[in-house]
Amino acid sequence: MATETTVDARARTRDEIPAGFTWNLSDIYPGWSEWEAGLGEFDRMVAGYAELRGTLAQGPERLLKAFRLGDDLGQLSYRIWYYAGLNYDQDQRDNAANARRQKVQILFAKAAEARSWFTPELLRIPLATVRGWMNANPELAIYRFAIESTYHQQEHVLDEKGELLLSLSSRLGDVPHDIHSMLSNADIKHPVITLHDGKQATLTYGQYNALLQTNRHQPDRKAAFEAFHGTFAANANTYAAVYNGVLQRDWFLAQSRQFTSTLEAALHGNDIPPAVVENLVATAKAGTEPLRRYHRLRKRVLGLETYHAYDQLVPLIDCDRKYEYSKVVDEIVESMAPLGSDYQRGVRQAFDGRWIDVYENPGKRSGAYSAPVYGVHPYMLLNYNDTLDSVFTVAHEMGHSMHTMLSETHQPFVYSDYTIFVAEVPSTLSEMLFFDHMLSRTTDQRDRIVLLQHAIDDIVGTFYRQCLFADYELQAHRLAEQGQPITAEALSGVYFDLFKAYHGDAMTYDDPAQITWARVPHFFGSPYYVYQYATCYASSAQLIQTITSGSVAERREGVERFLALLRAGGSDYPMNLLKRAGVDLSTAAPAEAVVKQLDMRVTQLEQEIDRL
Ligand SMILES: [Zn+2]
Repeated sequence: MATETTVDARARTRDEIPAGFTWNLSDIYPGWSEWEAGLGEFDRMVAGYAELRGTLAQGPERLLKAFRLGDDLGQLSYRIWYYAGLNYDQDQRDNAANARRQKVQILFAKAAEARSWFTPELLRIPLATVRGWMNANPELAIYRFAIESTYHQQEHVLDEKGELLLSLSSRLGDVPHDIHSMLSNADIKHPVITLHDGKQATLTYGQYNALLQTNRHQPDRKAAFEAFHGTFAANANTYAAVYNGVLQRDWFLAQSRQFTSTLEAALHGNDIPPAVVENLVATAKAGTEPLRRYHRLRKRVLGLETYHAYDQLVPLIDCDRKYEYSKVVDEIVESMAPLGSDYQRGVRQAFDGRWIDVYENPGKRSGAYSAPVYGVHPYMLLNYNDTLDSVFTVAHEMGHSMHTMLSETHQPFVYSDYTIFVAEVPSTLSEMLFFDHMLSRTTDQRDRIVLLQHAIDDIVGTFYRQCLFADYELQAHRLAEQGQPITAEALSGVYFDLFKAYHGDAMTYDDPAQITWARVPHFFGSPYYVYQYATCYASSAQLIQTITSGSVAERREGVERFLALLRAGGSDYPMNLLKRAGVDLSTAAPAEAVVKQLDMRVTQLEQEIDRL
């Protein structure tokens, strides 16, 4: 599947890219005037919605009317938002598109205000009454899960006075994240180091990562690592004080709402038992032997005297293989064969229907995403650059898009969106299937090594690192919950102990690594979030086993369960959806499937290396 391409895609302007490689936004609206008309319609619907205020208690018909009007508003909002947003993302220098995008944001803020009466008014009706209505009215019963989960949230809602106080305090709660962002971005002084060849390097985040990923001279990596972490260490006490703000806020909110722990508070919305996270981190920590084996192997292959944190990212072997997009497309379709021909047809339709904006162009938004434009189809933004990483990104985003397609086809609008807790299951499973396909096709030994390293680094980054992070967050929050002092020394101690527990004797430890906690934005911006990458990955690791091994009947059943998960969208709590797919996250089995997968990949890599 690998060929050389000669075109330097990055040099092209948008006009020079063949239309077939760009997305076709006229599937949403033929042009801006139709989009304008959409805005007008949205405005009228919002006004109509406001008229329902104060009527819900009159009976099931009124409640149903409010839900249906809410659905209409929701559906239209996808079109008006994404038509402006996708136009903007294809060239962010386009001021007109930016202005239109902001116009939608203002309209949405107005709509949110006009709809804010709904939930409080619903909750004033006793749940038993609403249940009676749902039992008698099948059309209202469609909204059962949405209604029940709204009441479930209510269990920890305070009286009016209490809620007012909490809402007044919410501005304060955002401050630690803002300070962290200012300290780490606006006010940071990026260190400059001199490399072994006499060249100077300014260690911005991008430069630092690029250096660790490409520089084959260990003293350069060491110098970069020390200077980079030194910047954070120089403000260690400030970072600790800011993080204490996060911890105290979370504990304050948890206690205010009568939760017994910050973890319980964080998981309540999705109805996830705290044991899920506790099991996850325990299983990962107990399953680090293959991780250590990988690092020992890296040390040997890289020919290093000692192996350090800054040696983890450099590739085992050099490879400048290019992957031509049009060939990759066929390979991805083929690789989805285990999921059946209907699924493959869906993937082909996405590739052929101009749903994807493939290449970079000046002004285009960086990164990649899948955008669910309800009632149209998902769109995918890529910045495809012929590297192996970008190949896997295509497979990843296609998993998200297929999830969107299946869930929109099979669910009423209200459940067509799914939570982050399940979102990364189809995307990571899609990557795993594609990897299996690639490895089975690749005979060149160096290519096989590159592929295996990609898969292993993916497991390390998406599972092990996120579990370590989740463990750190859990322990740090417990310090606050137990009224322990929270100092830079205490936080560095928690982080460093965990880092050592994961890597054992496979690494030589350097003091600057202790401060790593200070530079992870998620810790400051969205606590108890990263574990979901790990639970999703673990779910995929278990699902792919059932999809690709066992008897034909077992495999068929595994595929059916997986597709049922995708079709289910957000129609139930994520734990329930996953359980029906055969993944029980309250047990150690899913995380153990990842440990097993890593063990197998490291063994394969060892064999390939020994043969080389
Ligand atoms: Zn994703």
